[in-house]
Amino acid sequence: MGALEVVPATPLERIELPETRLRASVLTALTEIVGVDHVRTDAYERAFHAAGQSFRDVVAVRAGQLDFVSDAVVYPETTAEVVEVVALANEHRIAVVPFGGGSSVVGGVEPRTSQGQDAAITLDTTRMNRLLRIDETSRTATAQAGIYGPDLEAALAAHGYTLGHFPQSFEFSTLGGWIAARGAGQTSNGYGVAASWLVAAEVVGPSGTLETAPFPNSAAGPDLRHLVAGSEGVLGVITEATFRVRPVPEQRDYRAYLFKDFERGREAIRGMVQQGLGVAMVRLSDADETRFFGAFNAVGKTKSSGRKLAEQVLGQRGFGNDACVMLVGVEGSMAKVVSTVARTTAFALAHGAMPLGAGTGKKWLESRFEMPYLRDPMLDRGIAVDTLETCTEWSNLPTLYEGVGNAIRAAIAKQDRRGMVMCHISHAYPGGASLYYTYVYPMDRSDPLGQWSEIKRAASDAIRDHGGTLSHHHGVGVDHLPWMEAEKGALGMRILRGIKAEIDPHGIMNPGKLVS
Ligand SMILES: Cc1cc2nc3c(=O)[nH]c(=O)nc-3n(C[C@H](O)[C@H](O)[C@H](O)COP(=O)(O)OP(=O)(O)OC[C@H]3O[C@@H](n4cnc5c(N)ncnc54)[C@H](O)[C@@H]3O)c2cc1C
Repeated sequence: MGALEVVPATPLERIELPETRLRASVLTALTEIVGVDHVRTDAYERAFHAAGQSFRDVVAVRAGQLDFVSDAVVYPETTAEVVEVVALANEHRIAVVPFGGGSSVVGGVEPRTSQGQDAAITLDTTRMNRLLRIDETSRTATAQAGIYGPDLEAALAAHGYTLGHFPQSFEFSTLGGWIAARGAGQTSNGYGVAASWLVAAEVVGPSGTLETAPFPNSAAGPDLRHLVAGSEGVLGVITEATFRVRPVPEQRDYRAYLFKDFERGREAIRGMVQQGLGVAMVRLSDADETRFFGAFNAVGKTKSSGRKLAEQVLGQRGFGNDACVMLVGVEGSMAKVVSTVARTTAFALAHGAMPLGAGTGKKWLESRFEMPYLRDPMLDRGIAVDTLETCTEWSNLPTLYEGVGNAIRAAIAKQDRRGMVMCHISHAYPGGASLYYTYVYPMDRSDPLGQWSEIKRAASDAIRDHGGTLSHHHGVGVDHLPWMEAEKGALGMRILRGIKAEIDPHGIMNPGKLVS
């Protein structure tokens, strides 16, 4: 890294922002609703809210080239204020972009406008950050949607509960964003994905407020909660949500196993989830990812002769270049953890694995939100890194795994460059699993977005062609929109557009995302 030329990001003072297009009367009306301190038009706020965290977003911000900039950032504190802001925007045909933590990696918070709209406001939800109530009898809690992950977990922990939703972006993402993006936390095996732990929601849109009821089950037609989970701000602002909680686990055990190859590890995971072993998390790195992290952890260290010998012995026992590391997390009561770890270990051994103990698991748990912080120093030095994810049935997983990996590799090679493409199984279900790819390549500094678009297009085409979903947990946003119809079908898209038109007849809610 030291040998690579460093090109830092453009500082805020050098980013040129367009004048706000909002009329003075509208700005005044907004300040009357939320208070003068909570309508912001300063450069920092407008630049901060101009983009999320997708590769495209980050490269554009670093270059100081913002294609879309909010005309104002509005911070409501209550549902009543959101109702008034949305009504005002609807009356004046102003686009409204809901913004939680802004950690979207699919262009979900770009402040775009649609036809007939000449201004956009970002509605930042992070002042709506209170835990409202806990129903201990029903084991549910209700909170305002703008609460950040750590604040929500701290508030729940004070009562002995957890939601257990820990995306890698946990520190800087919100309850509403998790639901709107239909996300999945790292421990979704144990605690569920957003669409499954969501019990009820309140959503404010231009045509009114939708409140879904917290019934554990209902046969009164289709479940409208599924319109809220994954709505990406295009159907309104989620202001409150009720979700399932569980007691804070008495014990956590995270440990690693080494498999001889990806196939054996994959089959072990399938068995574990199909037999209902009850793990909180199970993930399997492929051989490239396993080697990458091995090399990464060894940076700056000299290999001891003991280590060299251990590697030799491992190689002789069949754990060579194809070896793959699996991490398994178990949470719950002491008794549950002890018995589940014993069963998981037996399962791994039956698939020829070697237990690596709790050290690697503990280290992963302690540093699980840290890896993404490397992206900026890497970009500074011209090394591009991006991730994408998909999901399919077990029977199709090998085809999808090969197809997408090969497509990304070929797209990078087409540009006469060598990159690294790594993958892990990140979330597993009885019926299938998700694949999470990380790819790293030397960036074309003259056209980083053109280069990235080619790779992204190749990967998304391969996902479509090999029977995967466009996204397992990142969502659609702007980046995946061109492939939506291939997944949902023409009628499916008409249904989604019809719902959008009913809730938001003037198309002011988050234009350009999810449904065109
Ligand atoms: C480093 C990194 C790691 C990540 N890891 C994971 C992961 O492990 N699992 C995962 O699921 N995702 C992950 N993501 C993606 C992202 O963090 C999630 O999509 C997250 O749910 C977004 O939450 P947010 O509060 O930041 O929402 P934002 O980014 O602010 O918004 C996301 C979308 O939801 C809409 N939205 C936000 N709040 C509301 C609301 N109250 N009402 C209506 N619409 C709203 C926005 O308009 C936008 O379309 C990761 C992102 C990064 C940068």
